[in-house]
Amino acid sequence: MSRLVDKHVIITGAAQGQGAAIARAFVREGARVVIADVADEAGLALASELGEVAYFSHHDVSDPASWDRLVAEAEERFGTSVNVLVNNAGILRFGEVDTMPLADLDLLISVNMRGCFLGMQAVAPAMKRNRQGSIINCSSVEGLAGMASLTAYTGTKFAIRGMTKAAAVELGAHGVRVNSVHPGMIDTAMTQAAGGEAAMQWGATRVPLERVGTPEDVAPLYVYLASDESGYTTGGEFAVDGGVTATHSFYPGNSGGRGR
Ligand code: NAD
Repeated sequence: MSRLVDKHVIITGAAQGQGAAIARAFVREGARVVIADVADEAGLALASELGEVAYFSHHDVSDPASWDRLVAEAEERFGTSVNVLVNNAGILRFGEVDTMPLADLDLLISVNMRGCFLGMQAVAPAMKRNRQGSIINCSSVEGLAGMASLTAYTGTKFAIRGMTKAAAVELGAHGVRVNSVHPGMIDTAMTQAAGGEAAMQWGATRVPLERVGTPEDVAPLYVYLASDESGYTTGGEFAVDGGVTATHSFYPGNSGGRGR
């Protein structure tokens, strides 16, 4: 359990859900981790569960000053630069194209897209100086295809996928890798709020593996992308989605339309 020894990591949105599972998996593999989130209570509880190799820092990904403080604090506490960033924080808002309030669009852009960009901007200088680093950006299956009522969210997740590729090209010569992860439907507070158990059950019928994913299904991919095992991998997009993007919109469920 030492795949991430000497990795000094910031994980945004790590107080709960997928971010928390990633933090637990990283600590198991020997990393030191900053749990960066706006959710203080859950973040502090996770930090105390993980012990002295992790700490919580209140952080809003949409705020450049918050990034400056976070990175400086991490360098001081770790005694060295951050060499892995997981841009995991994100929010979801539903809305149809013709009626969605502009304020919801702006909020999605601010947290999902701007937050991801600011994170890369905050860690890139030290990573370039040290000629090493791994940045992992959480997109979605909505960064690979569209879904009704998710036009704005989908826009931010395509943006994350695109920024990942451009940054990977730009930073490659400096030894810095950038990849995107594309989770399918994962059972977290985000999806529970979006429709609860009924949504989960519906989701399971649309996925070739016939179940909704868990945060623990997602975390091992992040471990791989953070570790030196993925040293020749950059600009890549990695679906962890039960196979949902292997099919198309005519997908009839695993009955294949035969009603088994
Ligand atoms: P979640 O709601 O459980 O966790 C999101 C975390 O982000 C929370 O802890 C929240 O406090 C934090 N956060 C929100 N705004 C923030 C901000 N401005 N600054 C810092 N932290 C902030 O949801 P999750 O499913 O664990 O989501 C993690 C990521 O996975 C998100 O980027 C989401 O878009 C993406 N995703 C989720 C699913 C899914 O089905 N759950 C699918 C694809 C992609």
